[in-house]
Amino acid sequence: MRKSLGVVAQVTPLSVLPYGVSMQVCPFHADEGIVGVPVGSDGTLSFTCDRTRGHPTPGLHIWVVVPAPPELDGMSGLGAELGLHVELPALISQFGSRWVEFGVVEHAYAHARPDDFAMLVARYSHTAIAASRYTVSAFIARTLGDLSKWGNVLFHDGPATGRWAYNSRISWWSVAPEPDWETARLSWADTGLTMDYVPGSVE
Ligand SMILES: [Zn+2]
Repeated sequence: MRKSLGVVAQVTPLSVLPYGVSMQVCPFHADEGIVGVPVGSDGTLSFTCDRTRGHPTPGLHIWVVVPAPPELDGMSGLGAELGLHVELPALISQFGSRWVEFGVVEHAYAHARPDDFAMLVARYSHTAIAASRYTVSAFIARTLGDLSKWGNVLFHDGPATGRWAYNSRISWWSVAPEPDWETARLSWADTGLTMDYVPGSVE
């Protein structure tokens, strides 16, 4: 019998990392672990591969991972079923070469696909209706995070504005080529939009 069990037990387990730390590898440089950095307080982590070559867009590669819904059964394929992986980059590209705050993207999706959005609100609720542990916004952000990992959309950490300001930070989105963060931004507050697009909103 091989006496390998003792050796296996000596391998440093990931669990010795500080609580809450999570690691991923860059999908384009799969040889180095990258530690996630929290974005806001909902468990979202951003990951930055600091190599400057070999990514879909010039320079660093940044992506986010948003927590999964608490109940995964039958849910994992929902984003794909709704075509979100195609729909969301197309909607973001309609804003031209600008970084767009999350709420503006969500509004654009609700406007383009009102029936699908209403179904998601019925399933996940929305903070515009009542406080909720998991929301349609988290569901959409998670899909955007998946897309950012492969470079189909670009992510930037930034300030939350207007009614979204209860989040200290929020995700901003664009498509390649990367817009200038200092000069090319569309915030929720800029748009003057209201929460009427959420069925049942009490805001
Ligand atoms: Zn990389």
